[in-house]
Amino acid sequence: MRCLNTKFSPFFKILRSILHVITTSIKFFMPLLPILRFPDSRLKKIATPVENIDDNIRRLARDMAETMYEAPGIGLAATQVNVHKCVIVIDASEARNELLVLINPQLVECDGVQVCEEGCLSVPGIYDKVERAEHVVVRFLDLESNEQVVEAEGLLAVCIQHEMDHLQGKVFVDHLSQLKQTRIKAKLAKQARITA
Ligand SMILES: [Zn+2]
Repeated sequence: MRCLNTKFSPFFKILRSILHVITTSIKFFMPLLPILRFPDSRLKKIATPVENIDDNIRRLARDMAETMYEAPGIGLAATQVNVHKCVIVIDASEARNELLVLINPQLVECDGVQVCEEGCLSVPGIYDKVERAEHVVVRFLDLESNEQVVEAEGLLAVCIQHEMDHLQGKVFVDHLSQLKQTRIKAKLAKQARITA
């Protein structure tokens, strides 16, 4: 996920410009794992729970984290790299040093409302406001198969909800009006023609 919190919009606008410059200047470094792009139908697949947290899952999480940091993004779901298992990586910290790996995340509690301008590594260059819960409590397994609980609000809560949506085959643009979705598809198709 890419997210621009409206509460800090001037700061995030500057950050977005800086990130854009960085992304453009390091374009020749390809992310480790290829990221599916909306409206690829594989983004609609529903992920299945991980039954055994083995070295393959640990490698997947590590590769996803590397891909997310390099993109750069603040969250990535396995669905986006065409692996349909319930694995999410997130780092919504400013210092980029608070990696969260959520395996089989389950929403336990959610309340409140916040509207955040979201973006997505699968929907490059598109940002729009989405309404989400302000506060969430999520139960998950860590890489050592221990059950953990994360309580989040603000940007981290948005990011968790955005990535959990991916595991259900949902992209943030699915929250927007049909008219906006049609415009976004047309814009992305045009971008694909230019870069082809
Ligand atoms: Zn996303």
